[in-house]
Amino acid sequence: DDAGVPGRVRVAVRLRPRNVEEMEADVDFADCVELLPELKRLKLRKNNWDSETYEFDEILTEFASQKRVYEGVAKPVVESVLEGYNGTVMAYGQTGTGKTFTLGRLGEEDIAARGIMVRAMEDILAGVSPDADSVSVSYMQLYMETIQDLLVPTNDNIAIVEDPKTGDVSVPGATIVEIRDQSSFLELLRLGEAHRFAANTKLNTESSRSHAILMVHVRRSSKGRNDRENFPAENGNASPLVTSFRPPIVRKSKLVVVDLAGSERIDKSGSDGHTLEEAKSINLSLSALGKCINSLAENNAHVPFRDSKLTRLLRDSFGGTARTSLVVTIGPSPRHRGETASTIMFGQRAM
Ligand code: ADP
Ligand code: MG
Repeated sequence: DDAGVPGRVRVAVRLRPRNVEEMEADVDFADCVELLPELKRLKLRKNNWDSETYEFDEILTEFASQKRVYEGVAKPVVESVLEGYNGTVMAYGQTGTGKTFTLGRLGEEDIAARGIMVRAMEDILAGVSPDADSVSVSYMQLYMETIQDLLVPTNDNIAIVEDPKTGDVSVPGATIVEIRDQSSFLELLRLGEAHRFAANTKLNTESSRSHAILMVHVRRSSKGRNDRENFPAENGNASPLVTSFRPPIVRKSKLVVVDLAGSERIDKSGSDGHTLEEAKSINLSLSALGKCINSLAENNAHVPFRDSKLTRLLRDSFGGTARTSLVVTIGPSPRHRGETASTIMFGQRAM
């Protein structure tokens, strides 16, 4: 399996089950897609006779559990973050198709419902040493090419800083909170969600028009550890005596989880009440993301990260040694066939 191979984007498709409205209104109509999960294929219906077939790394049907989705989409990325590499998990799709359900559900009412963010943190906390290592989190939203801190919302114009030597990308203006247990992480996600809602109400916009970005920083140290095999750089040293006098090796990595703005605005500028400027900015970031994904898929030397804040932010957690996973979410309704087709094409171009 090439799960999470560095430099290539792993792409999964997830179909949302029909909601009540769709069950009633579309009762006489077939879903716009047919899934063949074992073959990792999806058929997009053109009409009653004809369909187009696409292949993906993973096909997640309407029956796929949140656990299954986590394992298929995010787990390889989380594991590589624990090994010291950066990684990104993103959800792309039309509003209402399940991006937030997939990434952001807290599962307070039912732990089986927990989404990728919560499950990723659980694995990260279980994988680090509480004495030697640290895990900390920032939570932001990117709206109209402006980054706002979701933990301290007055902090609403955060700069992206790129280290010209190492290529590391950071957002030093964003609040960073150290996480020691799952309950404090849930608390922080709840706080961020509340701030996101309040900020968007004030701006008279919807959360579907901004990207929500969770950054999990993992810092691991060889200090006081006996699992030296996790720090191969030390193993290279022949003499254990010399090794013991060396300063501890510190490894930093990060996981970025991005709940992208609704993709429907990409080609409907100004059509449903949102401003043209807003549509342009969403269009800019999603199409810049698409171009970067395509460049990676085609092994191009030049990846146009500079084109938007979103891609600038992802620059060091995307391609290269980083592992990237994209889940494209689709709905079953034949009425949204056009949107579904464009979402599938976005995912397909990453393959
Ligand atoms: P998005 O974030 O893409 O706009 P949401 O995650 O808010 O979409 O999902 C829209 C609605 O569909 C929500 O009511 C959500 O609970 C429901 N939903 C989405 N995906 C699933 C799923 N796989 N199973 C059951 N309900 C789902
Ligand atoms: Mg959402």
